[in-house]
Amino acid sequence: MSGYDYTMERLRDLVMTQYQYAPRQAQMAAHGFFDAMDNDGNGSVSYREFKRFLVSEGFEEFSDKDLFKRLDGDGSRGLDFWEVMSLYYILRSDKPFCTECDDFLLETYFVCNGCRGGPYYFCNSCCQEHNYEMGGDHCYPVYDQPPVHQMQRSQTTNSMVMYTPSRSTSRSSSVGGSSSLRTAYRTFEMALNVANLAVGAAACSIM
Ligand SMILES: [Zn+2]
Ligand SMILES: [Zn+2]
Repeated sequence: MSGYDYTMERLRDLVMTQYQYAPRQAQMAAHGFFDAMDNDGNGSVSYREFKRFLVSEGFEEFSDKDLFKRLDGDGSRGLDFWEVMSLYYILRSDKPFCTECDDFLLETYFVCNGCRGGPYYFCNSCCQEHNYEMGGDHCYPVYDQPPVHQMQRSQTTNSMVMYTPSRSTSRSSSVGGSSSLRTAYRTFEMALNVANLAVGAAACSIM
């Protein structure tokens, strides 16, 4: 990634809005989670603290420095509250990164099941390039919330529009993580689950 990171800015905007409309209990739990992750209490999460959390919760694949740097868009070398909320969104939304350019696929993205070793995930421009290179229509769109006409169609013929990426959701936690951080993380998750249940149809939101 070079230049300005629009994806991370949009993600930051999104989590800010979700926070704003979250119940007070979920907001408190979010701050509790951030404070527990900020082990030395200096108000920002260092790479060391970031990695410690990810490894202990079984998200080791996200613990490289690239993601930390991208989240830390303001270059302060530490994650603020909104950057940690963005991280949480990335972990829980189960949305993939573009196979080609490695951008986080926050909005509608495309999946190729036609090539060996797939599925592969693409952003819009990489999808066009991929289809062009492969000489066919390899990529199918994955909608955040399928348009109504797509949903009706999917019930009868086209099941591709409802395709959801099958990344493993059952994470195994290794022993040795900080128990207070784990407790804060679980509390945050539970508060969000309660909030989502209260809203009812909020399956697509994390807060
Ligand atoms: Zn891409
Ligand atoms: Zn393909």
